[in-house]
Order: sequence, then C-alpha cells, then structure tokens
Amino acid sequence: MRALLTGGAGFVGSHLSEALLDRGDQVQVLDDLSTGSIDNIQHLKGRDGFEYVIDTVMNERLTAELIDRADVVFHLAAAVGVKLIVEAPVRTIETNVHGTEVVLKHASKKGKLVVVFSTSEVYGKSMAIPFGEDADLVIGPTSKHRWAYACSKAIDEFLALAYWKEKKLPVIVARLFNTVGPRQTGQYGMVIPNFVRQALAGAPITVFGDGEQRRAFGYVGDVVGALVKLVDEPKCVGEVFNIGNTEEISILDLARRIKTLTGSASDIVLVPYDEAYEEGFEDMPRRVPDLTKISRVVGYAPTVGLDEILNLVITHMREAMTPQGV
Ligand code: UDP
Repeated sequence: MRALLTGGAGFVGSHLSEALLDRGDQVQVLDDLSTGSIDNIQHLKGRDGFEYVIDTVMNERLTAELIDRADVVFHLAAAVGVKLIVEAPVRTIETNVHGTEVVLKHASKKGKLVVVFSTSEVYGKSMAIPFGEDADLVIGPTSKHRWAYACSKAIDEFLALAYWKEKKLPVIVARLFNTVGPRQTGQYGMVIPNFVRQALAGAPITVFGDGEQRRAFGYVGDVVGALVKLVDEPKCVGEVFNIGNTEEISILDLARRIKTLTGSASDIVLVPYDEAYEEGFEDMPRRVPDLTKISRVVGYAPTVGLDEILNLVITHMREAMTPQGV
C-alpha cells in the first residue's frame, strides 16, 4: 500500500509512518513543520519506501499530485493543542477546514480512501460518559475560542461523510482521544509531556483549575495499530470510530503519579484556567471513549496502561533532556 500522510512529521503521524513502513507499506509525508518537526521523522530518512515533502496541504497542486500517487490518504495535518487553538484561532479554523476541503476534493477525483482525523474534543461539554460515536455533540458558545477547534473538526467530519454519501468517496473518520507517547511535545499544551518535563527539571508541576477534571490516555502505539486495522477492513468505510483508552485519572492524581514515578522534588501547584488559557476558559470535566464499536468491527483493545505509558514518556524525555555526551 502507498500511503500519503499529511501532517506526517507530527507526533501521531511520525508513529503511524513508522508502523506502516514496518509492515512494508510505502510512506509519503507532506508536512509544513508548523507543529510537526523534522526530528520526529529523522530516524525514518533513508528507509526503503519513505519520502517526505516540506510543504502545506493548502498547496493544492502538490497535494493533488501526492494524492494521485497514493492508495490511501491519512489526513492528519491540522492545528492541534488547546493552547494553540486559544492563541491562534484564525489559523486553527482555516487550516482545519480548508486543508480538509483540499484533501477530500482531490481524493474524490481519484476515488482514494481518506482517513480524516478528528478528535474527542467534538463531544465538547457532553456528560454522556462514555462518549459513543452517535451521541450528541455539546459545544460551548462561539465567544470561547476553544470550541472553534471542536467545530472545525466537526465540519471536517460532516464534509468527509458528505463526500461518502454524495460522491461515494471512501472515507473513515477517526476520533482520537488524548493520545500520548514518546516524541509528543508539551509546546502546545499537552499535559503529560508538560508534567514530565516540569518534574524532571524540578520546576513546579502546573495543574490547571482544581485538577478534578479527568482524562483517559491512550498509547500512541495502540492508536496507530487501530488505524492500520481500520484501513484494512472494508466495513469501516463511511464510519466514525473512537480510538483511545478507558482508564481514567484526575489531572491532580496524574501530577502526583508523575512526581512519584520521576522521583521529583517539584511542587504541584494549581493554576486558575483564566491564567493558563484565557478569561472564561471552559474545560471538559471528563472524556472517556466508548470503544464498543471499534472493538466489534476490528477487534481493537488498548494494550498499554497508564503507568507503562508514563514510564515510556519519562525515559524518552530524560534522554532528550540529557546534554549529549553526558
Ligand atoms: N493541563 C494541566 N496542566 C498543563 C496542561 C494541561 O492541568 O500544564 C490540563 C488541561 O487543563 C486539561 C488536561 O490537563 O484539563 C488535559 O489537557 P491537554 O491539553 O493535554 O488535552 P485536552 O484534554 O485538554 O485536549
């Protein structure tokens, strides 16, 4: 299989590239390095079947050409991370909506399978835990920029499913829940790399709000395994799938757990949301996927638990933070 990965130099994209190459697929990465990094794909350079282009998915002519050469498109290119979304809402909306329009339009001309990456953020403030794919989406007001991300991704989903319905373009929508693992950076606000970096540096571990909000973290290796299964199963076309893990933890307990696992002397401090993001910021109190559908259709079940994930991230970050030669 020849795969095109838009956003392939990002955290998830780089792990997916590796998994596809490992099973003998060819991989082309298209990434503008806005939030992705060459460091993420450095180890793939020179591998048989791997190519990358530094450009944006908004470059229609190039994107069309790359789609033409591919059998399947994994459309990961997007503005991600709550911090980035709050700070750069124009870029978030334009990249997420227009990029997907370009990919679907050109994939449709050639009938190429597209996996559109969405997010658990689309469930918004819903309290219907666990979140099932057909559940209502509960989005906050347009004056709160955070919700622009959820809405931009919901539009991507609508558009993908519309292409399937109207033009018979094979699409799969993957709703990724909090996904973590080595190479994820805390630069865009993601909590686990942030806490681990803070703990290893002996800096205060910054828990936003009261820390009672809960999340369930999925290991990136499990997530890319699920993605590969989805594209291999024809029944998945035209469908939406949650991908993640169901083991929940409060953010305050997460901070405590990371402090213990790293043996850090860091203090755990509470930072009000208004200070961490913007005035009036709304968080999601809980977010847990219902994995019944993906388990039924492709037999997916997460295999890596939270402590194992944390140890992998800690080891990776310790290495990354150690000056060379020390
Ligand atoms: N968070 C935190 N400290 C940080 C970064 C994030 O307490 O330094 C909190 C954040 O407010 C949210 C949770 O951790 O409640 C998960 O944040 P992340 O940005 O990783 O993902 P989200 O679930 O918000 O998309």
